Amino acid sequence: MTELQLRKQIIATAQRMNALGINRGKSGNVSARWKDGFLVTPSGLPYEETKPADIVFIDAKGRAKGKRAPSSEWRFHFDIYHGKSEVHAVVHTHSSFATTLACLEMAVPAFHYMVAVAGGNSIRCAPYATFGTQTLSDRALRALEGRKACLLANHGMIATGESLKSALALAVEVEALCEQYWRALQIGKPNLLSDDEMIAVVEKFKTYNALAR
Ligand code: 13P
Ligand code: ZN
Repeated sequence: MTELQLRKQIIATAQRMNALGINRGKSGNVSARWKDGFLVTPSGLPYEETKPADIVFIDAKGRAKGKRAPSSEWRFHFDIYHGKSEVHAVVHTHSSFATTLACLEMAVPAFHYMVAVAGGNSIRCAPYATFGTQTLSDRALRALEGRKACLLANHGMIATGESLKSALALAVEVEALCEQYWRALQIGKPNLLSDDEMIAVVEKFKTYNALAR
């Protein structure tokens, strides 16, 4: 893949997250690993107006190269690529149900076996920190330990993947799980699956493609 193709894919992914209804307006951001750094959406530019040249490159030292300012959240994108070699794409959204739970600082427990697609027996919620800060990144990285996705208190969610397609698919799935958990809570106390069961499902997902990649 060429750099231009990847820049176009990042824009298409950002536009798709809005078209799918898991994000609105200029909220959220999308990145993909490139060379010794990553390419990320610019800060505060509507995705419909974003052109390949607006995408910003951040190098291994965290230096931005581009005509626009990088996403205000470039720090957590940077720290994720630095800390997780298997991750090649990051999607951050303010999707409604994930954000609803995040506003209560609720994690998603093992109420459904698909929670395991995020890597374990829960989808954690990182404590609140101001958007764009290193503190938010530090807290997000802690919530992402052994996980591919997390919620961000009073803010939204982060989903990662080995490709833009899988990161977006995981964001869609996390949002669906948050909606289902929210719905289940309306009518009762969801029955949680055991840790052993979730370990078995995580294991099964190593050979079963639970998400479109
Ligand atoms: P950016 O437009 O700077 O990426 O910010 C959007 C956002 O979601 C901040 O958390
Ligand atoms: Zn945000």
